[in-house]
Amino acid sequence: MCALSDFEVCAVTAPEALNSVVGTLYVVATPIGNLDDISARALKVLHDVPLIAAEDTRHSVRLLQHFGIATPLAACHEHNERDQGGRFLTHLLAGADLALISDAGTPLISDPGYHLVRQARAAGIAVVPVPGACALIAALSAAGLPSDRFVFEGFLPAKAVGRRARLERVKEEPRTLIFYEAPHRILECLRDLEAVFGAERPALLARELTKTFETMKGLPLAQLRAFVEADSNQQRGECVVVVAGWSAPEEADVLSSEVLRVLDLLLKEMPLKRAAALAAQITGVGKNLLYQAALTRQPEV
Ligand code: SAM
Repeated sequence: MCALSDFEVCAVTAPEALNSVVGTLYVVATPIGNLDDISARALKVLHDVPLIAAEDTRHSVRLLQHFGIATPLAACHEHNERDQGGRFLTHLLAGADLALISDAGTPLISDPGYHLVRQARAAGIAVVPVPGACALIAALSAAGLPSDRFVFEGFLPAKAVGRRARLERVKEEPRTLIFYEAPHRILECLRDLEAVFGAERPALLARELTKTFETMKGLPLAQLRAFVEADSNQQRGECVVVVAGWSAPEEADVLSSEVLRVLDLLLKEMPLKRAAALAAQITGVGKNLLYQAALTRQPEV
């Protein structure tokens, strides 16, 4: 068997592999806190495969021990994933199954596994997802923010300049945005979100999901930042930030202050419809838009 160490070599092997009995690569989700969240299918796969590729074997051995599973583990983390890929592919091409797990949640989601999955698929090996917990989906499912379309931005850059630049690029994204953040940067992250997206943008902090101190706090960004600033407990643990997408301001909200000044003066002197028509003639702004604006600006009687 050739040494499979990169994508090109695997691609060459693909047709041959498809014609022989090869193992299956199972991508298995594990809990993000509460161990009861592991699925019956995940336990069966982890029990039945002859080898598990794990992000941190010392971490995963505790999970397996908890469930009485004695399957051997081999390390597959971001520093050795490309090099180890060959070893795992050799194992699979020899006809043995392999399960891939990460420290928590779904592998490949801000976790290692991408290179292995890519290499395996290129080699004609069946890659089967065994779905389960994923922090971003758990947060979104209970956030009460639009969930029909969303964008997962993963971790923002650690340095302020890079973080703000990334946020600037997505500040007019209309879909709900989801970020992962480390606890020691959550406050800086919320400050930058507020500065770039504005104080009023609805958001939610999902902290310690499925664990004892689980917190789901939904507030406009300025209030959410203040809430976290005021309580150092909120700056601990694992967190996901969900932010409402950008919505274009109503046209009536973008009238210049000069146009509104003219409209207000006329409203004091004449009926609303006539004031809107005259303001339209004076300013060149559409009559309907001014009429809508006038409805919201009429002095109280
Ligand atoms: N693969 C994982 C998944 O499926 O969600 C994500 C792994 S990533 C290295 C770790 C990040 O996920 C944390 O920094 C945090 O942003 C988020 N996360 C993981 N578990 C979480 C939890 N229980 N509560 C809130 N966020 C969590």
